Parts: sequence; structure tokens; C-alpha cells
Amino acid sequence: MDLYEYQGKELFRRFGIPTSEGRLASTPAEAQAAAEELGGQVVVKAQVLTGGRGKAGGVKLAEGADDAEQKANEILGLDINGHVVRRLWIERASEIAKEYYLSVTFDRVEKKPLFMLTTKGGIEIEQVAEETPEKLARLHVDPLEGYQPYQARRLIYGAGIADPNEQKQLLDIVGKLYACFVGTDAMLCEINPLIVTPEGEVRALDSKFTVDDNALYKHPEIAEMRDPESVPPEERAAREKGVTYVKLDGEVGILGNGAGLVMSTLDVITSAGGRPANFCDLGGGGDAQGVVDALEVISADPQVRSIYFNIFGGITRTDEVARGILTALEQIGIEHPIVVRLDGTNAEEGRRILADSGQGNLHVEPTMLEGAKRAVELAK
Ligand code: GDP
Ligand code: MN
Repeated sequence: MDLYEYQGKELFRRFGIPTSEGRLASTPAEAQAAAEELGGQVVVKAQVLTGGRGKAGGVKLAEGADDAEQKANEILGLDINGHVVRRLWIERASEIAKEYYLSVTFDRVEKKPLFMLTTKGGIEIEQVAEETPEKLARLHVDPLEGYQPYQARRLIYGAGIADPNEQKQLLDIVGKLYACFVGTDAMLCEINPLIVTPEGEVRALDSKFTVDDNALYKHPEIAEMRDPESVPPEERAAREKGVTYVKLDGEVGILGNGAGLVMSTLDVITSAGGRPANFCDLGGGGDAQGVVDALEVISADPQVRSIYFNIFGGITRTDEVARGILTALEQIGIEHPIVVRLDGTNAEEGRRILADSGQGNLHVEPTMLEGAKRAVELAK
């Protein structure tokens, strides 16, 4: 789960990482009031789950409360990489002498958390890695040994930071960021920029924070931070109904039972010249209600042009699945063409139930490949 900047900063503060004081606002009037309370110069920042807000005009300095109101007016409703700005973070403006970059993430190859630190902050880390890789200090932490302060010192020296006052603060921040990363079950904690003020104070000016979805049950207060509006309606429905759903970007909606079969169905659709729009995994059970829920989720995705139902019945009874399909069609009236391939337990009965139903948009195919070809054709 990705967090908004203001939520990430709240977690940073909880772990003692210095940030600037700020307020949340969702209207220009609230932005004005927030700026009034903070006093002086403020930054008005779009809260969207995407980077590059500065470049897109989503981060603006304001001279006072009235200016903040005007800047809020300009930023609210802005479309940044497909994300519409509905909320703002109003923060006391910082003076910036230097912009650094600090992050901790998982290196899946090394199977260890990886710190990255560079004095070339304020720009995309990918750009730093490409153009000036020698400026990017990297350091792995062995999760069994845990974090040791000497590692932070090595990281800070590696980045070429020689000022003892900065070193001292960074040592503290790196340790706290590691505690934050582990303590929240994060997959990414990124501070870009991590600034040094003209007075020499080091502070997090931005936050990019991803928490492991599978660990959210341990952190109900973080799970509550999820913004339901940031999730497409079919993904929200899938979560509520407990359906395993993954969004892709093609046009054939896919429903299968079991991860292996679903993965091969994606391949078969691709080799038949189509592209999967999404997929649902019914799992081993595949009772009628499960089918209804999954079909409802898949057909709510506006990119879907046809649906391919690929079921192999081992534990799953395919006649049960066939009844589920008919129930779903009665309950939610799906217009999309649905191609069905049923095989395995009670497959003959399953196919007969579908054939006898007289539903015009149902197409029963005997094999997986033929079904895929049909579904791709019907999506055109
Ligand atoms: P991003 O573009 O989405 O990464 O948003 P950031 O929060 O990183 O802000 C973008 C840029 O705006 C930063 O790199 C800074 O240069 C600038 N900025 C943000 N906050 C302040 C601030 O308090 N004072 C000043 N002077 N600049 C700021
Ligand atoms: Mn940033």
C-alpha cells in the first residue's frame, strides 16, 4: 500500500525523523486557515500517489495565507499523471542549502534491505544511478545481524558527506529510518529531498512510503490510512468480497481456478494475439457465489471487451461453476461475450447446463487454446 506524503511524514515523525510542521487541507479556505496558523511562508503540496509533483506544478511556495489560498485554488483539481488532486499538505516553508537523497528498500536479489544515499537529491534516483553512479552510496543490512551504527557511518562516508554536523544528524536519521522501515513492515521508505538548511539542520522534505499489504493486519492504524477513493471501483469490490483480483492493461478479462491455470491462461491469451485486461483466481473451491463475485468484479473493469472463463475441475465441480455463471448472468446482467472452457469433474454436465441455458453471449469451447482464440476474436 502506497501512502501519501503527509501520511509517510506522520510515520517519520513517530520514529523521530525530523520533518516540517504542516496541516492537511481540501479546500482553498482550509489552505488559507492552515497557512494562517503556521504563519509566514508555506509550501502548498498536492497529495497524490505519484512522484514528480514539483515538475507538474503540484508544489508551490506561498508568501502568506491569501497567497496559499490562491495557490491551493491552482493546484486542487489538477491532473498529475492521471491522479486528480483532492487534498493538499500545507507545510511551513524550509530554506534549502543542499538537497540529499536517502532511502531504504528491499533488494530482492540480495534478500536484504538496501540503503541508498546521495548528495545529488531532488532529482529522480534512476537518473543519479545512470548519470553519476559513483555519487550513489549503497549499503545492505543483514536482517539477522540487524542494523549497526557503523553501517550508517560507512554509508555517509561513501556518499562523500564530510561535514561533522551533517554526519551526526544523518547517523541518527539513518538509524531511525531503519527502525521505521522494520517497525512498519515497509517495502520502501524514501526521502527525496532530505535537505540541509542554511543553519545546517537536516530534515525530510518529502516522503515516499510503501507498506507491505500482507503485513497490514499487524498495523491497523496504517491500514486505516488507505484512501478508498484512490482505488478503482472494481479493485475496491474485489477487496470487499475477498476475490483475488489483479488489474492488467489489455481487453480480455480472465477467470480461472488456481494460480497455475490462471498464469497459463494469460500466456494462451497472449499467444492467441490478445492481451489480458485483468484476472481473477477462484482458487480451489469455486462455488456459485464465488463465481458471481468474480464475474461482477471482472465485468466492472471498463477495459474488458470479452471474458474468458477457464476452469479445470479437480476439487472444483464444473457443474457448480456452470450454475454460478448462470446465476451471475441473472443477477448482474453481463453484456460482454463470455467464452467458457470447462474440463474435469462433471464437465459434461457443466457444458450441458450452459448449452441448455439459451444465453446468447455464452460461448462454450472444448479446449483451452480454442477458448482463448475465441475470446481474443470477440474482444476485437
Ligand atoms: P516531488 O516533486 O513529488 O518529488 O515533490 P517534493 O516534495 O520533493 O517537492 C519538489 C521540490 O519542491 C523539492 O525538490 C524542493 O526543491 C521544492 N520544495 C519542496 N518543499 C520546499 C520548501 O519548503 N522550501 C523550498 N524552498 N522548496 C521546497
Ligand atoms: Mn520528492
